[in-house]
Amino acid sequence: MGAIELKAVEKWFGELQVIKGVDLKVEDGEFIIFVGPSGCGKSTLLRMIGGLEETSRGAILIDGEDVTSHSPSKRGLSMVFQSYALYPHMTVGENMGFSLKTAGAPKAEIAEKVGHAARILKLEPFLERRPKALSGGQRQRVAIGRSIVRDPTAFLFDEPLSNLDAALRVEMRYEIAKLHQSLKSTMIYVTHDQVEAMTLADRIVVLDGGKIAQVGSPRELYENPANLFVAQFIGSPK
Ligand code: ADP
Ligand code: MG
Repeated sequence: MGAIELKAVEKWFGELQVIKGVDLKVEDGEFIIFVGPSGCGKSTLLRMIGGLEETSRGAILIDGEDVTSHSPSKRGLSMVFQSYALYPHMTVGENMGFSLKTAGAPKAEIAEKVGHAARILKLEPFLERRPKALSGGQRQRVAIGRSIVRDPTAFLFDEPLSNLDAALRVEMRYEIAKLHQSLKSTMIYVTHDQVEAMTLADRIVVLDGGKIAQVGSPRELYENPANLFVAQFIGSPK
């Protein structure tokens, strides 16, 4: 399960309104991408879904349950950011299992879940290494692994690849697509990279100044942009 619904969601920072009434239904298992120019509210909206940012107005539902006032840990979602602070003194395996350990999970269960995540992410050869002995892409995979072990209802990604160089970004984009295929979980993914959006998304949500400019499949947006802003942003010929 992992259906997420936003109902007339607004965010105000004091007098400044940054999210201006967003309605969106995300189906279980969908790969949704938020795109838009810097400052349009992508991160804020994602953080509101994750519960890291309070929702000023409107409601957020997960599998039909109103979670608007729930703490992040009660929402069952998992967030992956662009800066992924791994614990330098722990091995890769310990990093991946840490949240389960602090939650008091039995050792066997931790080992099973870490092993499963390591298989999916091709990190098995690196489980005993420390993060500093890994490449940037491997470290980012460890950060994703930390999310997978928690069996989240949905994954929330905020520009997870933006600190990687171009070649690695392409490789990791492919890894994330495969991850979605194998886990079949709902993913909401923020990027300002149009190519990333066009290749990964089931549906793209184009944000402009805190509002949805258009929602649609990559093809729908490309072939039928709702306005000039979307056309220019998606790079469609019209
Ligand atoms: P994006 O991720 O699309 O670049 P953000 O969601 O980070 O945009 O920011 C949207 C707007 O909200 C920006 O104008 C930003 O300056 C503002 N903003 C974000 N966080 C805060 C905050 N904690 N206090 C005040 N304004 C904020
Ligand atoms: Mg952002």
